[in-house]
Amino acid sequence: MEYVSPEGLRLDGRRPMEMRQIRAEIGAVSRADGSAIFEMGNTKVVAAVYGPREVQNRSQQMSDQALIRCEYSMANFSTGDRKRKPKGDRRSTEISMVIRQTMEACIMTHLMPRSQIDIYVQVLQADGGTRSACINAATLALSDAGIPMCDLVTSCSAGYLNSTPLLDLNYIEDSAGGPDVTVGILPKLDKVTLLQMDSKLPIDILENVMQLATEGCKAVANYIREILLENTKQLEYRRGV
Ligand code: UDP
Repeated sequence: MEYVSPEGLRLDGRRPMEMRQIRAEIGAVSRADGSAIFEMGNTKVVAAVYGPREVQNRSQQMSDQALIRCEYSMANFSTGDRKRKPKGDRRSTEISMVIRQTMEACIMTHLMPRSQIDIYVQVLQADGGTRSACINAATLALSDAGIPMCDLVTSCSAGYLNSTPLLDLNYIEDSAGGPDVTVGILPKLDKVTLLQMDSKLPIDILENVMQLATEGCKAVANYIREILLENTKQLEYRRGV
């Protein structure tokens, strides 16, 4: 199948290095300490953060740092008839762990010993790249909850189809069977905190695809900074500062 036309356009009309439209909203779950919705094209996720709070299971309490927990799930209606199992399957367990480890890289856990922070991410609409969207939503929700972080983790994926590196794959491109590289970065510290790939790629092409995904992460970081700034301005306005 042709995923890039001779004119250089993808099936959804994007250029190879073009990301889907991103949109974010802070404070979607009023009962949570922090929350956010993050959309990348038709992929839409919600993140809710609770904590720092008392550790529920005392045997897991740590005297020198906070315990971070993360739960990823997909809503039953998120993928139409493509959905296999709502939660508790191996894929969700793996993605929960990946998101937790990625977020742990930026949370200053040593400042909150003997406490627990819960990050819940749920996919409302799935169209490829849900783990990236969840990481971006979690970053916003953690910021909204006032959790101290050393940087803002952001994530984006890129793939390689028809000998062309493609940024931010949607479901059709993802299920083409080609490589899908998901990257997470700490933009200010200029560090990579997440690198996942399914399928195989020659090393020089992997470098190109990774570079493209990193550019996507940087674009997400710029957008997230804008959203946080806008949110702070609104809070100041409401408080009459
Ligand atoms: N997907 C689905 N049902 C499932 C699991 C995945 O429809 O039970 C779709 C969904 O659109 C998802 C895509 O397959 O975004 C790719 O899934 P993958 O495991 O590669 O993770 P993702 O790209 O979402 O991080």
